[in-house]
Amino acid sequence: MSKKPVVIAGGGPVGLVTALALARQGIEVVLLEAESQIPQDLRAGTFHPPTVEMLDRLGLGNAMLEQGIKVPEWQIRDRRTGVVAQFDLGLLADVTPHPFRLHCEQHKLSRIAADVLVSMPNVKLLFGHRCTGFVQDAEGVTVKVQSENGEDEIRASWLVGTDGAHSVVRKGMNVEFDGFTWPERFLVFATPYDLREQGFTGNAYVADPDEWCAIFIQPHKGPPGIWRIAFPTKPEMSEEEILSDAFVQSRIQGFLAPDREYEIAYRSVYRVHQRVASDFRDGRVLIAGDAAHINNPLGGMGLNSGIHDGVNLAEKLTVVFEGASQDLLDRYVRQRRLTNIEYVQAITIRNKRLLEERDPAVRKEHLDELRQTAADPARARAYLLNSSMIASIARAREIQ
Ligand SMILES: Cc1cc2nc3c(=O)[nH]c(=O)nc-3n(C[C@H](O)[C@H](O)[C@H](O)COP(=O)(O)OP(=O)(O)OC[C@H]3O[C@@H](n4cnc5c(N)ncnc54)[C@H](O)[C@@H]3O)c2cc1C
Repeated sequence: MSKKPVVIAGGGPVGLVTALALARQGIEVVLLEAESQIPQDLRAGTFHPPTVEMLDRLGLGNAMLEQGIKVPEWQIRDRRTGVVAQFDLGLLADVTPHPFRLHCEQHKLSRIAADVLVSMPNVKLLFGHRCTGFVQDAEGVTVKVQSENGEDEIRASWLVGTDGAHSVVRKGMNVEFDGFTWPERFLVFATPYDLREQGFTGNAYVADPDEWCAIFIQPHKGPPGIWRIAFPTKPEMSEEEILSDAFVQSRIQGFLAPDREYEIAYRSVYRVHQRVASDFRDGRVLIAGDAAHINNPLGGMGLNSGIHDGVNLAEKLTVVFEGASQDLLDRYVRQRRLTNIEYVQAITIRNKRLLEERDPAVRKEHLDELRQTAADPARARAYLLNSSMIASIARAREIQ
């Protein structure tokens, strides 16, 4: 058994959870995070039932449940005609102790996990330390690190890259990051205006050929929370135009009341991709989370699938540390890569195409089908097993 630590490059939510899952098994972990503290930007905010279960098993569940908002019901709407389908995760109460989406900012998970990690004797959390590359041999990995103290090297038994979409670790593995980038950028803004007054549940997707949107409530300075709304934008628009008051107000006024101004607490614009790395392993180097795959946020699956990677990988690395064959790590790749393609990529692409469908006849056909699905408990249950990511976890278990 190697005495060298596992080095994790990237202290986002996936890196921190992976570190904790390993450290709970007594494995020595060094976590490198390039930033000097946990990034606070508003990104993922939806946790699906299997993810809450995993966080619970790591001892983080109660803190997350205390800080988040439970959303048991969510809607698909047509912008012109209103609610098309409303799904109730209560239908899954027999298969999960958490039959709801938990809405909570990802930086809160990072903070909760980091607070546990700092108290563990087998963990070193190194903020302000950037991984700049690595060299590996049959016995281990030499990880190159840059900090305010200059350049250094750490010898690791394994290197796990959880350093996000632009992963230095993935680039060092020389794998492809296959997929595509959507032409339109997404505008995301937040308003304290309570959409429940208009009949919205805490999460809703609104179909429209030009102004489809995704809506979800987030905790914000106590109840009732704040509403985050994502819209597509035209490729030719400048960032300044997209973020202007006039454009943001026009989006929200377009589907609420046109004759009033809404308070906007936050706004940003970002580019969206669908990509999966051609391999998640190169010898003693592995990747997880956004370093391994990225997708659009429609369905809230990016961060969730990253956490599923981290927990799966930690289980296998633990067994390898105990003497099992390293080939077990290829099963991690098969399970997580395939389910990302079959579920996360497929569902998020389908969700986007559903919302933006331009052909009225096709749109009607798709929305009618969803309406019928929601009205039939057996079909609704099958639909919810997919959209809550329970089916993808079950599928991964089948993959040898
Ligand atoms: C606007 C937006 C909305 C989103 N909404 C959702 C959602 O609703 N639901 C969902 O599931 N997902 C959502 N996502 C996706 C989600 O945010 C990501 O999937 C998630 O952040 C991935 O976590 P990660 O830890 O893999 O990567 P990151 O969060 O990107 O973390 C990577 C970390 O590595 C650090 N780092 C980078 N390079 C290095 C290096 N060389 N050395 C050391 N450290 C390094 C970075 O500073 C960062 O802290 C959204 C994304 C965006 C942009």
